[in-house]
Amino acid sequence: PFDVLVVGGGPAGGSAAIYSARKGLRTGIVADRFGGQVNDTAAIENFISVKRTEGPKFVDNLEEHVKDYDVDVMNLQMAKGLERKNDFVEIELENGATLKSKSVILSTGARWRNIGVPGEAEFKNKGVAYCPHCDGPLFEGKRVAVIGGGNSGIEAAIDLAGITKHVTVLEFASELKADSVLQDKLNSLPNVNVITNAQTTEITGTDNVNGISYIDRESEEEKHVELEGVFVQIGLVPNTDWLGDSVERNKFGEIVTDRDGNTNVAGVFAAGDCTDAKNKQIIISMGSGANAALSAFDYLIRN
Ligand code: FAD
Repeated sequence: PFDVLVVGGGPAGGSAAIYSARKGLRTGIVADRFGGQVNDTAAIENFISVKRTEGPKFVDNLEEHVKDYDVDVMNLQMAKGLERKNDFVEIELENGATLKSKSVILSTGARWRNIGVPGEAEFKNKGVAYCPHCDGPLFEGKRVAVIGGGNSGIEAAIDLAGITKHVTVLEFASELKADSVLQDKLNSLPNVNVITNAQTTEITGTDNVNGISYIDRESEEEKHVELEGVFVQIGLVPNTDWLGDSVERNKFGEIVTDRDGNTNVAGVFAAGDCTDAKNKQIIISMGSGANAALSAFDYLIRN
């Protein structure tokens, strides 16, 4: 059995594995796709001390760093269940195998919910974006839309209004769902307009995004707005369904952790985008992976 089994091979998992291995713990990492969301990232400009890099290059460096240690990397393996059994935690894989470990660090990340209209996949990283903290500065002085009028959409719109020339918020329902303090703040900004009852139908473009089409659900007219960027903000979904009730999750499906990365199950820790941590970024995931590994070490020397 392992001392520490990390489930998920993104920034959080990679960091947790390195910190565990550096403690001399028998460490394994199971990942459906090593590197996680970073594989889909074009430019990374906010990983502090590295001014600019690309996602795939970042993943290569992460893998090289992990493989520098005695870590058993099991890539292209999907976990489908977790069970605490006496002194061990068992992780069941889709391929039928079961892995045993004295402790487990869950770092299965999350994915942005897609709007699923024509143009979204085609123009990903060519004007279609999901993360305002990551990609907002790429749209400096340009016009953008934010799809989604919940808290994350309105926070994104306020953020982007400070960077871009103009922000159009498109909300499907007849009113915004964001907290009223956010709505008040949004309404105070001069370069934002909100369109409710808007059903996005297409993101248009040639090489890059040049506009967005929507149906006004009241008049049933199709409309088009010219712009250079679209931020899809209709939810970040944690990859935690496979856990069922084995570990406590909140109403969004995020794993509930304390500030040391403990879950409600002894010996089971969690880190990164799959948790209820408020902010989701590479550097934050790596920090929480390190934190969870040090907590796992502390747990192991006491048990
Ligand atoms: P993830 O990166 O999501 O990794 C999760 C890992 O778990 C993967 O290996 C996955 O295959 C694995 N996994 C999932 N389910 C299972 C399972 N059941 N069994 C086994 N393995 C499983 N952040 C920045 O800081 N800067 C940026 O510029 C930036 N740009 C971004 C651009 C895009 C397009 C996207 C999508 C995200 C961006 N982010 C950026 C956010 C950043 O990528 C995430 O915050 C970060 O990757 C989270 O790391 P993580 O390890 O928690 O999860």
